[in-house]
Amino acid sequence: MQADAPARPLVEARGLVAAFPVASGLFARRQDLIAVNDVSLSLAPRETVGLVGESGCGKSTTGRLILNLDRPTRGRVFFDGADITDQITHDRSAWRALRRDMQIIFQDPFAAFNPRLSIRCQIAQVIKAHRTQAEGGAVHSAVERLLADVGLNPRLGDRYPHQLSGGQLQRALIARALAPEPRFIVCDEAVSALDVSVQAQIINLLKRLQRERGLTYLFISHNLSVVKHMSDRVAVMYLGRIVEQAPRRRLFTAPKHPYTRALIAAVPHPDPRRSRAPIVGGDPPSPINPPSGCAFHPRCPSATMVCRTQTPQMRRVDGRHDVACHHAETTAEASPLIRLAGT
Ligand code: SF4
Repeated sequence: MQADAPARPLVEARGLVAAFPVASGLFARRQDLIAVNDVSLSLAPRETVGLVGESGCGKSTTGRLILNLDRPTRGRVFFDGADITDQITHDRSAWRALRRDMQIIFQDPFAAFNPRLSIRCQIAQVIKAHRTQAEGGAVHSAVERLLADVGLNPRLGDRYPHQLSGGQLQRALIARALAPEPRFIVCDEAVSALDVSVQAQIINLLKRLQRERGLTYLFISHNLSVVKHMSDRVAVMYLGRIVEQAPRRRLFTAPKHPYTRALIAAVPHPDPRRSRAPIVGGDPPSPINPPSGCAFHPRCPSATMVCRTQTPQMRRVDGRHDVACHHAETTAEASPLIRLAGT
């Protein structure tokens, strides 16, 4: 997939907001926790968009909203041109059909499988639920093919989840996600729990499957190195908002947002003699009580008065490069690389 090729989006999110009521403070006052705030994202067919940011920034919630697993407080989701936002509550049969087209691969395959059923049985259940193969013999062959397709010996299908290694189980999870023959898959930290060598194998597997099956991926990860290998375009999230979005090469060679620059600076370099960037302190602020103006301003070395009072809007700075920063044009050249405390 060419990063700059224009195409009608297969998946499109417009202005998504997810607010959850919580009780906080001494008197348990009810407030809204804004997990996702005005997120817009589009994915062209066969494209991989990486969604990256620190833990708790709203990446997984965004994935669930797009998949129609949760209903947004505001905003719309479109799949193949159709508005699917209300299907979760209004049209259960259409929602079930949608599940065929849209699947998810979770981080923890041990939690994703039923420990009491064999892998074969669990993949077969998905095939039967979506009636892509009706007869018993056909279902059996389909499971065998899926297991082989993800690089597993089909005999492993008779084992139970605890009898497989983490890498084997993640392959089985991918096979189960492929069972309904989806067009779009959300990979939610799909390689984060794996050893580095196994991570590389799974990434290569996901790329091969994308080529062969024409899949579109939303690849959610806190790990920028993994996102760099996997994505055509990258969206960076901070405290519920997308703050920068660009084709992969452009984002890594010319990041405009200070937060993106901090994330890139935090990626370990193979040469230990290469000096690391100075640390920017502080934890991400609470989404219940976010800072005024730009939510990154308490941690940003380039913050000015306007950053403290006005929320920067997403704007196009170059080609398909969008950024939400008042000083994007100047900070990219003038500010030093920073990295966040704890990274
Ligand atoms: Fe930093 Fe201001 Fe840009 Fe926010 S808007 S990232 S505080 S320079």
